[in-house]
Amino acid sequence: MTVSQKPTNFIRTKIADQIKLGQITEVVTRFPPEPNGYLHIGHAKSICLNFGLAEEFGGGCNLRFDDTNPEKESQEYIDAIETDVRWLGFEWAELGHTADYFGQLFEWALHLIRNGDAYVDEQSAEEMRSSRGTLKAPGIDSVFRDRSPEENEALFLKMRGGKLAEGSAVLRAKISMSAANLNLRDPALYRIRHVEHPRSGDAWCIYPTYDFAHGQSDAIEGVTHSLCTLEFEDHRPLYEWLLKKLPVTGRPKQTEFSRLELEATVTSKRKLNTLVQAGHVSGWDDPRMPTIAGMRRRGYSPDGIKLFCERIGVTRKPNTIELQILEGAVRDDLEGRAHKAMAVLDPLKVVVTNWDEGDLALTVPWHPKCSELGERTLYFGRDLYIDRSDFELEPPDDFFRLSPDGSVRLKYGFIVDFEDAVFDADGRLQEVHVRFDPATRSGQDQSGRKVKGTIQWVHQPTAKRLEVRLYDRLFTVPDPGNYDDLASCLNLDSLIVKEALGEPELAESMPEAYFQFERVGFFKQDSGDPSSRPVYNRSVALKDTWAKRK
Ligand code: ATP
Ligand code: MG
Repeated sequence: MTVSQKPTNFIRTKIADQIKLGQITEVVTRFPPEPNGYLHIGHAKSICLNFGLAEEFGGGCNLRFDDTNPEKESQEYIDAIETDVRWLGFEWAELGHTADYFGQLFEWALHLIRNGDAYVDEQSAEEMRSSRGTLKAPGIDSVFRDRSPEENEALFLKMRGGKLAEGSAVLRAKISMSAANLNLRDPALYRIRHVEHPRSGDAWCIYPTYDFAHGQSDAIEGVTHSLCTLEFEDHRPLYEWLLKKLPVTGRPKQTEFSRLELEATVTSKRKLNTLVQAGHVSGWDDPRMPTIAGMRRRGYSPDGIKLFCERIGVTRKPNTIELQILEGAVRDDLEGRAHKAMAVLDPLKVVVTNWDEGDLALTVPWHPKCSELGERTLYFGRDLYIDRSDFELEPPDDFFRLSPDGSVRLKYGFIVDFEDAVFDADGRLQEVHVRFDPATRSGQDQSGRKVKGTIQWVHQPTAKRLEVRLYDRLFTVPDPGNYDDLASCLNLDSLIVKEALGEPELAESMPEAYFQFERVGFFKQDSGDPSSRPVYNRSVALKDTWAKRK
């Protein structure tokens, strides 16, 4: 998709219509992550949608931990998810845990059993799989399907009491083994797991399945609009069947939308975890990770991520979004909030030979249009650095920076004219000598001189050494999610560490600030590294450079 395409959100339109027609009077949504990893950019789409709709229609959005798989879940993930949702700027109406509803869900399972709508199946997992049938062939009824409610209840209590081994019995809904929709062929509702749960401890040894837990949790919380991704479309009939069979008060409605697939990016917690475990990245918050924590550390702002989610819209059409749409949104957002600083990544010494005063202090704004960011002080003097790429001895025609016959403006300083180039014994360029034109001081220039280029520079005596980390995409292929072995498509140059020189203020600790190094890119101070030297992560380059390289 391209940026110009108008974003759509069919769910918002639908809700507005329901309100207009008097069909609903309130909107309650929920964001229901499973705490088995850190949130990623795909979750950001769901968060913006769920919290955004609740905000827009004056309702609430709950944060619910869908914690029904105790083996894979942990408190670390729960804490990280809360931090990330808040960082994006959202506050939940209620904080829920599916685990807190285990008691109610158990009662409802008994309700189904007593009404003859559920039974305990003691077939092996293999038998259950093979008797399920296929899209073309109906399934086969289990020999345990017609047990009496009393017998089922006694067995279910035995499951709950810890008397049965894992895999020896499953509670199944009694719907139909010949339903066209495979999800309705007597789906599992409860399975035995003799494991501790991060929240409920050892209170339970049977756990509800996603299908049995999700809709009922929505109902308990009074959710009106249960929004999920398209892979749950085929589960909707089961979602509705369960709500109809149970004495629930709420009537949530499930609506599906297409999940975010992002070019060159993995959006699966499980797969991201394999990168962390194998040490291919430094952790869940490695700035190359598409996690919210990674993007935060890299220097994306919450508004940049939200702008991206707004631009891609919400539809039911599966598609893959180009990475430049995300980077474009991040850039557009940072442009308006970043402190504009001067740093050179590849320093070339410049001597201003006609400068014979002391250093000149220049007080200049951090951002020409955002006075609220304040000002900082720079020094101009005899010994400076510019970037090596801003000087050419034999420049091509379209080169507008410093060269033997090209003068250039040093940003916030003066126009300088080339004088000489000094080489070492091996013929390598050592330094460049220039003369400054005193009549051309920025802001006070009455000279009428015009030059085509303005470049950044730093003042040698006050320059600070910075470690600069340049990130690139983590994978070389557009669809890493389709590779079983993620290591085989890693971009080995996804991190380049450089030593740079920056203006003095860049050595100060400014953890909240966003930066643009003039003509280089957007940067953020690294939060994860307590090293003595300031470290800057490049959030995004000023322009899309990957497209050119391909
Ligand atoms: P993962 O495979 O990363 O674990 P999931 O879908 O299992 O993804 P959950 O934590 O269960 O992740 O999802 C929480 C919510 O976020 C769900 O409503 C889910 O549909 C939504 N979600 C997850 N991934 C995406 C995505 N790529 N695009 C949009 N929504 C997503
Ligand atoms: Mg999941």
